[in-house]
Amino acid sequence: MCRRTSALHRLALGLAVAALAMPALAHAQQRNDEEYTRLIRQHLQDPRITTELVDHLPASETVPTPLKFHGRIIGTPGELTYAKDIHRYLRAIDEASPRATVWSLGTTEEGREMIVMAIADEQTIANIDTYKGYLGELTDPRRTTEERARALIGGIAKPVYWLTAGMHSGETGGPEMLQELAYRLVVEETDFIRSIRSNIITLVTPVIEVDGREKHVDTYYFNKTRPAGEARLPLMFWGKYVAHDNNRDAMGQLLKLTQNINRGASEWHPVILHDLHEASTYLYVSTGTGPYNEAIDAITVGEWWTLAENEVVEMTKRGVPGVWTFNFYDGWTPNYMFTIAHTHNAIGRFYEVASYGPDLRTVRAGATTTSREWYRPNPPLDSIAWGPRNNTNIQQSAALFSLKYVADRAPWFLENYWLKGRRSVQKGKDGPVNAWVIPAGQRRKADAAQMVNDLMAQGLEFHRADRAFQAGGVQVQAGDYVVRADQPFRTMADMYFSLQAFSLQNPRPYDDTGWTFHLMRNIDLREIKDPAVLTQAMTPVTAPVRAASGVTGTGPVLVVDNTTDASLVTFRFRNAKVRMQAAEKDFELGGHSFRAGAVIIPQGDRAALEASLNELGLSAWATDRAPDVPTHDLDVPRVGYIHSWARTQDEGWVRAAFDRYGIPYTYFGDIELRKGGLRAKYDVLVFPHVGGDVQSMVNGVASTGTLPLPYRKTDKTPNLGVQDQADDIRGGMGFEGVTELAKFVQQGGTLIVEGSTSAILPSYGLTPGLVVEAHPSLVAPGSVHRGIVADKASPLVYGLAGDQLPVFFRNDLVLGSGRGGGFGGGAGPWANLTPMANPPRLSPWQTDSTQASRARPSAAAGAPEFGFGGGGAAAPSTSRVVLAFPARADQILLSGALGGGEALQGKPQVVDTKVGDGHVVSFAVRPFWRWQTQGNFFLGFNAILNWNDLDAGKAGPAAAGAAGRPER
Ligand SMILES: [Zn+2]
Repeated sequence: MCRRTSALHRLALGLAVAALAMPALAHAQQRNDEEYTRLIRQHLQDPRITTELVDHLPASETVPTPLKFHGRIIGTPGELTYAKDIHRYLRAIDEASPRATVWSLGTTEEGREMIVMAIADEQTIANIDTYKGYLGELTDPRRTTEERARALIGGIAKPVYWLTAGMHSGETGGPEMLQELAYRLVVEETDFIRSIRSNIITLVTPVIEVDGREKHVDTYYFNKTRPAGEARLPLMFWGKYVAHDNNRDAMGQLLKLTQNINRGASEWHPVILHDLHEASTYLYVSTGTGPYNEAIDAITVGEWWTLAENEVVEMTKRGVPGVWTFNFYDGWTPNYMFTIAHTHNAIGRFYEVASYGPDLRTVRAGATTTSREWYRPNPPLDSIAWGPRNNTNIQQSAALFSLKYVADRAPWFLENYWLKGRRSVQKGKDGPVNAWVIPAGQRRKADAAQMVNDLMAQGLEFHRADRAFQAGGVQVQAGDYVVRADQPFRTMADMYFSLQAFSLQNPRPYDDTGWTFHLMRNIDLREIKDPAVLTQAMTPVTAPVRAASGVTGTGPVLVVDNTTDASLVTFRFRNAKVRMQAAEKDFELGGHSFRAGAVIIPQGDRAALEASLNELGLSAWATDRAPDVPTHDLDVPRVGYIHSWARTQDEGWVRAAFDRYGIPYTYFGDIELRKGGLRAKYDVLVFPHVGGDVQSMVNGVASTGTLPLPYRKTDKTPNLGVQDQADDIRGGMGFEGVTELAKFVQQGGTLIVEGSTSAILPSYGLTPGLVVEAHPSLVAPGSVHRGIVADKASPLVYGLAGDQLPVFFRNDLVLGSGRGGGFGGGAGPWANLTPMANPPRLSPWQTDSTQASRARPSAAAGAPEFGFGGGGAAAPSTSRVVLAFPARADQILLSGALGGGEALQGKPQVVDTKVGDGHVVSFAVRPFWRWQTQGNFFLGFNAILNWNDLDAGKAGPAAAGAAGRPER
């Protein structure tokens, strides 16, 4: 096979040489920049990785080349450009040419600017707002007639094609390449480039993760100064919060970079959003294997293919090996940034290019990637010399072919875009789903309002019902939030509000398989299947909403309802000096039922507290005397927050929740644990998921070499050291650190661990009764599962009404409690419902619509039994299982995929283990998953608020046994 492949490539090389001669006529009129062109040739590592589009650079009297501006060409080995210099360069092009204009997209968490440049012919740039308006008209078929749309499509409007790069900071080529592409689009006078300039508007955002780019360039040059054999700095803290997961934020939209792109997309209505990445050999053009997300219009799926095929064929025609499509990711989960295009009826796509470097190297293709396939007609070679100029050439050429393809078919793409909007609106009228309703007065009303605001920011339109009505069997109250399905972006609602049923017969999923938006947020949302809902009186929501709130009644004592709304924790920390208590049992007061965890304020400044409650969307009741329930004081803890120096990918999602909801903490690296003295400084330690095995988490950054490895802001590394600094980040917590963690707990501290860090103490036998289990047969990609409340009296579930809670689980670890007996989970109002059978309605959280990747076998017949089954031999344990998987495997999955679920039957999801005088709160689920699991935030917040009273409501050993176990 290899030999045959080589022969093919020799043939292809010949074709490439022939192709070089083709555009000679067009070139004749324009002089090349001789030096730049010479350097392109000099730095190209393999002569096959080029095309006639990028083997030269045209000269310009007015516009500076990258060489003139930076002193080096794009693709110079051993050099990287800071985002601030990339931005300066694009602004210099803007200054010099009427064919380009640059503006700000907004700033990052660390205050750096994100920019976008528009490139088109002079006339278009001079009237760019007019063109923006045309696309706005085409976006909304409710206000644009067919006649007007046809006129716009037929030659008035121009598609916007938005190229973005630099999302992933170690993927350095896109930001470099886009500078040369921008220059070329502005300056070159071939028919090819002219047609791009006149028929479409190209937007270029060279760096999405601006904070991470600057840190990466610092890190690269720092490592260059390290002697051989010494430890190198990994790239830590890309943005303020997350690393690679910055491309998993499209649903949550926590990060500024996502918000900025989303705002830009909402304003400019790009027909294509094309994101440049680096991970593959040599150029992967996205389509995906499927299953494709069911909510994406079928037209878009077709457009993915037609676009990708063009790039594969054009590059293959020119003899460039290794340009392919299809077999890389799937197309299922809507969490990637480019999904912003899909939720807005546009086309989201991406490249994966063999890395820019910038150091030279040899790329050896994996054994399974060099065969000739229908999706890979000219496969990668077994081995090739690679460097930054290869990377620049291959992705710049392909991007230009794509721009040209769209430029040649602008009316076709515009028509498709218009049709997708029109089909969306029509789908809302035809049904089956005509609207979704979020009851404004639901128990978790503050978080419900937050969900409305978050979705409005993403472009979903909301109304509020003017008066109560019934439609499709759903009772809607005045003031309830209504999402009309007859809106252009109903695609988003389809995508977010349906259930996912991902068949495990598919190729291995690329990422999460389940995400149902309101399940993750534990928000009541109802589908309405009745077109009559569309004629009901309702008023558009035009500004952010806030839940009804305030204080009812009179008297010096205030009782704040604990509804598990996340803002309750804000209320506590904002009023840290006010004495607050938690009720340890459910009670009635003033005609209102309170769940345990209600906050009692014996004496407070009502006016000040009421203002705080109103701002946070919380409700309280005033009374003359405190309710007659056992209570404990909510002592404000000193919180320490531990991060690993080896990996800062996941903890940032947790940190973001602490920042957003105002929990103060001291942030420090794993190496600090070794120093001990933790209990003197902290009451609560939070140590979020790190990933890897226990050994790697304990070892941290390897202690390679003899020199310390500093992570600091210095003159040479001005962008490092923002989140944390250390003189030597090597060595991890070590065994001493593990011992100190255990000591902290024994001395009365509360340690909160989630995901992988939940495995550390059990692995050293430091949490009696709690063990980590291995289940090779378990297939658990990120999905939404059912949690059963196993201990309703535990402060960890304070405020939670009902017996169940949707949780997010992926196979980070499975905990076992090693305890005997079991707990009745309580069948609750869902006892007659069968998860994943569709219909009937499954639970209060669930809508009926399912995105099925493939028909899923229905759940086993017979009466479902909920309940945490416990099981296993009786063993002495101080673990208190608070939330657990259902006792039956077929009751576990709510949305997504699960195989071998028997391994999870009755297994703990959240456990409180008493060790000495303190507690370890272990999460096997992920309560702070990617800013999507707001419905679980309070589990962590309750642990912090009640840190020294976690034993409240604890049953004795006899009581636990007496609670009974579900019938089998
Ligand atoms: Zn990437």
